[in-house]
Amino acid sequence: MTLAQRLDQIRQQIPPHVRLIAVSKQVSVDTMKEAYEAGVRDFAESRLQEALTKQEQLKDLTDICWHFIGHLQSNKAKKVLKNFHWIHSVHNLKIAQRLNQLAAEHSLYPQVCLQVKILPDPNKYGWSASQLLEDLPELDQCKNLKIQGLMTILPLGLSKPQVVASFKQTRDLAAHIQSQSNLMMEQLSMGMSGDYLLAIQAGATMIRLGRIIFGERSLTG
Ligand SMILES: *Cc1c(COP(=O)(O)O)cnc(C)c1O
Repeated sequence: MTLAQRLDQIRQQIPPHVRLIAVSKQVSVDTMKEAYEAGVRDFAESRLQEALTKQEQLKDLTDICWHFIGHLQSNKAKKVLKNFHWIHSVHNLKIAQRLNQLAAEHSLYPQVCLQVKILPDPNKYGWSASQLLEDLPELDQCKNLKIQGLMTILPLGLSKPQVVASFKQTRDLAAHIQSQSNLMMEQLSMGMSGDYLLAIQAGATMIRLGRIIFGERSLTG
């Protein structure tokens, strides 16, 4: 099957309000161009340097929307801010405030999602639900961040019912936050190649798909 055919198959499974984001980490620019030809406009990257190189090579494709989904380090926050339209991986108050300060200095209003760990997972970054609720008043003060919703990555090895329950908890947390603050919680960035259909059932508005579009990666990242 060609990449375009795989994309067609996936698109048939997702409702029109769900945004399909192609996770292109470790994917060549030629393959990204092929995805672009097949209609993809949302690309996500998890490593800043790799992304900047590709953005330079793809700079003629001016309608690409770039999403940052990797670990957001303080010393790279400025470059991420300047080179991505969306940041899905704002993972604690400190980095949110840093990003807000940089955004204010550069008169930028980035669209961001807050990354939550709905289940404890030592291998992932993100707010716990309780910590996030505690930090809401300060997040409300981050006026340069257009906080749009939540992002989550589930731990590996969950059963299907656990996956569904965790995605629904993320959705419920977003609704709760919306009722407790002035934050917009319209986006739920959840669902990857292995679980995107369950995520959509639970209310995902953005799904981040890598392997199912581009094939297996050689390294994890
Ligand atoms: C790699 C990655 C994805 C895509 O995972 P696949 O299993 O290849 O679909 C989605 N989200 C994040 C944050 C990732 O790092």
